[in-house]
Amino acid sequence: MRQPIVGHLDPFFFQVNEEIRGWLKLCFGTANEFTMVLSGTGSAGMECAITNFVEPGTKVAMFANGYFSDRLTEMARRHGAVIARFEKPWGETYTDAEARQFIAAEKPQVVAFVNAETSTGAHQPGHGICQAAHDAGALVIADCVTSLGGMPINVDECGIDVAYSGTQKALGCPPGLAPITCSPRALDWLRNRKESSVSWYLDLKLLLDYYESAHRYHHTAPISMFYALRESLAIIAEEGLDARFARHKANHEAFVAGLAELGVGMLVQPGHRLWTLNTPLVPEGVNELNVRKRLMAEHGIEIAGGLGPLAGKVFRIGTMGYGSSAENVKLLLETLGEALKAEGWKA
Ligand SMILES: *Cc1c(COP(=O)(O)O)cnc(C)c1O
Repeated sequence: MRQPIVGHLDPFFFQVNEEIRGWLKLCFGTANEFTMVLSGTGSAGMECAITNFVEPGTKVAMFANGYFSDRLTEMARRHGAVIARFEKPWGETYTDAEARQFIAAEKPQVVAFVNAETSTGAHQPGHGICQAAHDAGALVIADCVTSLGGMPINVDECGIDVAYSGTQKALGCPPGLAPITCSPRALDWLRNRKESSVSWYLDLKLLLDYYESAHRYHHTAPISMFYALRESLAIIAEEGLDARFARHKANHEAFVAGLAELGVGMLVQPGHRLWTLNTPLVPEGVNELNVRKRLMAEHGIEIAGGLGPLAGKVFRIGTMGYGSSAENVKLLLETLGEALKAEGWKA
C-alpha cells in the first residue's frame, strides 16, 4: 500500500486489476469473465447486488437465518422489493427439500441467501437453493463475505448468479474493497433491465465501462487498496488454494476439539459449521462479557460476542486468513480456558 500511486486510468492500474480478476475467479470457483472489484466494503457488494438485480416490485425470496440476511432484507425493502422471508432460528440452515418447497410456493424472481453467516457460524453451500431457484426461473444472490479465500464456494458448480465478498475477512487484506462475480444469466438480466439502477455509484453497467471496455472514467478507484488486494491474492496463490482451505478446516476442527475438552459446545450442528468463524456456546452461569474483557485486558486478544437473539449466548471467534494458525488455536484455547475458569466455569 506504500507503493507509488498511479492514476486511475493508468495502464498499470488496469494490469493490476487483471491480475486481481484472475485470482478472484479461482477463489470464487468461477469462469465468469464478469468478476470485478467494487470500491467499498462488503456491504457495498451487498448493495450492488441488490441495486442491480432488484427493482420496485421484484419478488425476492429471502433465506432469513441471521444478521446479514436481515441486512439484505432491509436493502431489498429500500429498493421496493416484495419480500418473502423463510425464517429459521439463528444458527440453523436449510435442507434442499425445504428450499425447494419455499421457492416453489413463493415463485420469486430473485432468491438471496448467506453462504457464510458471520453472526451465527452457519454454512449454507447453496446447491439445492440454486437448483430450485433456476427451475423457477429465478436469479440467485449469495453473500460470500466470510467464505471467500477460506472455504470453497464453487460459484459455477453451485449455480450462484451473483456472489459478493469483502477483502478483510478470509482474504486477509485490509478493509475497503468488495469482490463481485456475475454469471452469464445475471448479465442477460442486466441487459434486459429497462430502468437504470437507483444507485449511480454501484451501477454495474457504468462500472463495466470503466474497468473493462472503454476504460471511461467513472470514479477514482482507491489504487492503494487494489495493490493490497493484489498482494493478498498473491499470498493465497503462493500458499495454494487447496492448502489454504485445508489449513482453515484443520485449525477450525482443532479448535472445536479443544473446546469440547473444556466442556464447551457449539451452536451450529457438525457438518454445517464455517471453518472461518466459530460460535461456541457460552457455558451455563458464565458472564460472556467478563470473559471477553479478561481476554482483552490480560492477553490483548479480541473475540466477539453474539448479535441479536444470540447476544450473551455465544462467542464469535474468527479463525480466518492469517489468523487461522495452530499457534493461535493453542493460545486461544489456553487463555479462553483460564478466563472461563476465572468466571466460575468448572470444566
Ligand atoms: C462483514 C460482512 C458483511 C459486511 O461487510 P462490511 O465489510 O462490514 O461492509 C456482509 N455480510 C457478511 C456475511 C459479513 O460477514
